[in-house]
Amino acid sequence: MTLTPGAYLKCRRTASGKSHEDVVDVIETDPALSQAERVEWLKMIEADLVAVRWSTIVALRQQFPFDLAVLERLSLIQDGYDLPLPRLCRICASSDTGPLGIAVPAWGWDAPDLCISCASAT
Ligand SMILES: [Zn+2]
Repeated sequence: MTLTPGAYLKCRRTASGKSHEDVVDVIETDPALSQAERVEWLKMIEADLVAVRWSTIVALRQQFPFDLAVLERLSLIQDGYDLPLPRLCRICASSDTGPLGIAVPAWGWDAPDLCISCASAT
């Protein structure tokens, strides 16, 4: 499974149990947008239809955890670079650095594409 950067963000958001509304309600935009407009904006980000500013990535990462190195790798692959795919859980898209995108103890894999957290939940 090759995720696009936007699909990766969407997968990590849903894995963290957050809705579009949960995320956009705490992100400020300039100019100010309505909640419905911000939801549409987030959906476009998740569909790779709009460019994402660095400040947006930082704001999103305060709402749900994801691995910046994975996002970078997926962006490069999308841009045509021939790089190995990052290892991701097929359910929650956690990477080698764990669900928080930072090194955590007792993190690991149950199968090549299934993390221990998702394996124990099934
Ligand atoms: Zn998982």
